[in-house]
This record gives sequence, structure tokens and C-alpha cells, in this order.
Amino acid sequence: MRIAFLGPPGAGKGTQARDLARAWSVPHIATGDMLREAVAAGTALGREAKAYMDRGALVPDDVIIAMIAERLRQPDARSGFLLDGFPRTIPQAEGLERLLKDIGQPLERVIYFDVAEPELVRRLTGRRVCRGCGHSFHVVSNPPRREGVCDACGGELYQRVDDSESTVRNRLGVYRTQTTPLLEWYAARGLLVTVEGEGPIADIARRVQDAARRRP
Ligand SMILES: [Zn+2]
Repeated sequence: MRIAFLGPPGAGKGTQARDLARAWSVPHIATGDMLREAVAAGTALGREAKAYMDRGALVPDDVIIAMIAERLRQPDARSGFLLDGFPRTIPQAEGLERLLKDIGQPLERVIYFDVAEPELVRRLTGRRVCRGCGHSFHVVSNPPRREGVCDACGGELYQRVDDSESTVRNRLGVYRTQTTPLLEWYAARGLLVTVEGEGPIADIARRVQDAARRRP
């Protein structure tokens, strides 16, 4: 089982990846989390990544690919892996393809979580954060008992600038520009399967499990 999940912010692929990696007994390789952990642990690659982050620069693709390579050498990755959040661009996909070819573990499927933009905006702008304790809620999927008030500490809930509609639409636009060519790239290799990412979480999980078995 060697799979990558692609999807815009708010598509819910992180939740699905966590649950399905457990069900399939393969490691869930979330590159964003891995990067933060490597930096916190102070590994050689973590220190290299931190040097870029401290300058406000993006961590280069080859550093992330090297981190993935290191992770895939762990014994638990022998039966496969689930990549979440990588690749996002064609150069990243090319680097990943070279790495996986070198270790004889090519991708078998790329599953794209398709969610309409209005739904993504609704999900991403619904987050409310407590000024007091930092606890986060969602106006639709996880509302506080009293509107605008934190269940945990009674503090005031507010919307972060990152979650405002204009910022969210911007992030989605950037994602679309980068990813549309990537979807075509994987489709041309016969790897892409699209899954509808709306509806109850259990239904989406079933669709993803079917897609993992289906020939693209
Ligand atoms: Zn609070």
C-alpha cells in the first residue's frame, strides 16, 4: 500500500490519513508534522530546515525529500506508507518519483480529495480561537455551548486573520494554481483517483478505501 493523498486545505485529508494509516498498518507521513518534529528534535536535517525557516525562506524540496527518504528507511515503512501534504508541485513530484524509484517503492495510487470551493471556505472560515486559553472551536462542526464564549475558560472567541475569508480564498487560489498541473501529471502516469470529499467522515473513509483498491 503506497499511496499519496492530495487535496486543498480544509479537504479533511489529514483526518482520513491518520485513521486509514492506522487501519492499513502503514506509517502516516505528514511532511509538515515531520518537519516540525525534526526541528524540535534537532536532527541534522532538522537543523538544516530550521536555518531556512529562521530566514523566512521555504525549506527546499531536496531537504524534504531527504527527510522522507530517512523516514522510509524505518522498518515500519516496509509494508507501505501514506504520504500526506506532499508533493504540492511538479518539481516535488519529480523528486519524489526519483527517490521512490531508487528504493524500489513506487507510488501505487494518488488519491485526490475533491471538495467544492464554497464548502472549503465554509470549513476554513468557521474556526474560532479563545483569547484566553487558545482552545479552538468550529461554528459548524464543533461549536461552543455559548456563541462567542470558550467552553474551557469562559474567554472570548475570535477569528484569526489566517482564517478570514479573503486569506482563505487566497490560500485556495495558490493551491489550485500549483496543484492543477500536478493532477494532470499524475493522471498521465495512470495513478490518479479522485474521491468526493464531502459528506459524513465515515462515508468519505469508505470511498477512499474503495479508491485505494480500484485500478486508476
Ligand atoms: Zn478558553
